[in-house]
Amino acid sequence: MTSATDPILVLLDVTADGALASSAAGLLGAASGVGTPIALVVSTADGLADAAAALGAASVLVASPGEGFTVAAVDALAAAAELLRPDAILVSHSIEGREVAGRFAARTRSAIAVDAVGVARDAEGVTSQHSVYGGAYNVNAAVTFGAPVITIRQGSIDARAVAVASPRVVPLDVPASGRKSAVAGAIDATVVTSTRPELRGAAKVVSGGRGLGSEEQFALVEQLADVLGAAIGASRAAVDAGFIPQAHQVGQTGVSVSPQLYVALGISGAIQHRAGMQTAKTIVAINTDADAPIFGIADYGVVGDVFTVVPQLIAALEARKA
Ligand code: FAD
Repeated sequence: MTSATDPILVLLDVTADGALASSAAGLLGAASGVGTPIALVVSTADGLADAAAALGAASVLVASPGEGFTVAAVDALAAAAELLRPDAILVSHSIEGREVAGRFAARTRSAIAVDAVGVARDAEGVTSQHSVYGGAYNVNAAVTFGAPVITIRQGSIDARAVAVASPRVVPLDVPASGRKSAVAGAIDATVVTSTRPELRGAAKVVSGGRGLGSEEQFALVEQLADVLGAAIGASRAAVDAGFIPQAHQVGQTGVSVSPQLYVALGISGAIQHRAGMQTAKTIVAINTDADAPIFGIADYGVVGDVFTVVPQLIAALEARKA
């Protein structure tokens, strides 16, 4: 279906309301750096092929979502891989992407590299880059057989592919594997209305730590986030103290983020926190303790009280907007 000699199969996540997930641009950008990106969307929602092409997919395979969770996506990925014989398979390191990638790799006996922050190509094939041990080391991983399945950390890829004007759109015939799958008996949708971006994949994140002191005072983090149009993160200490729900926790046992801008307010910078944010492009830290480890990785640091510095920062940002 493609004449490309270097196809990279890219599974794109689709949101509940039938749009491409924000991870799509980075995945296709990464693929374009090592080969020809061929997208797979497991959804029949309108406009997805054009959206994928606008982000650089040379061809788009479209498969039906089928019944049950995950298995239809794994079936589609298996059919697409069989058809294309790609040099690598890229999948988002989202919750769903991780499950599909893991199941696919187990089913096809493929090697898998997870949570990559970059991909490259050497004489042997496609390799992946990983930020490990709390961001203390960057390592390259290469598989010794077959095409690697690589999950990519959301927000970690800056490269963007050139838009494709007229992509080839191919309906994918997927033989159902009949593997067991969880099926939802009923779905009760919870509508969360927020004008803030989602933490995973956000371009800007403002996080607060124990230094905020209380749930009420944590509002300062929200105020700065809103002025910057940023998502809200937190340290585990802030979560454990009840300042903010656990879904906002950044770090080893929370969410990993790779935003363009990460602002750490009243966070010491323990290794478990750094593990989830050290790959941010620009890190700004505000902390009263000049010896706090967060300053060791910050691009810009302010030694000061958040309750003095942040209101001034908000005022300055608002004055600039006016
Ligand atoms: P603290 O370390 O108490 O730091 C608070 C900071 O605020 C201090 O540096 C202080 O100088 C500063 N401060 C105080 N008042 C002010 C003020 N008014 N203005 C400015 N600065 C002020 N942590 C995570 O974050 N994410 C994880 O996923 C995670 N997973 C973990 C997993 C394991 C297995 C373990 C053992 C720990 C984990 N932790 C995690 C906890 C981690 O070790 C730290 O305890 C935690 O990150 C500390 O949070 P903190 O920086 O908010 O608090």
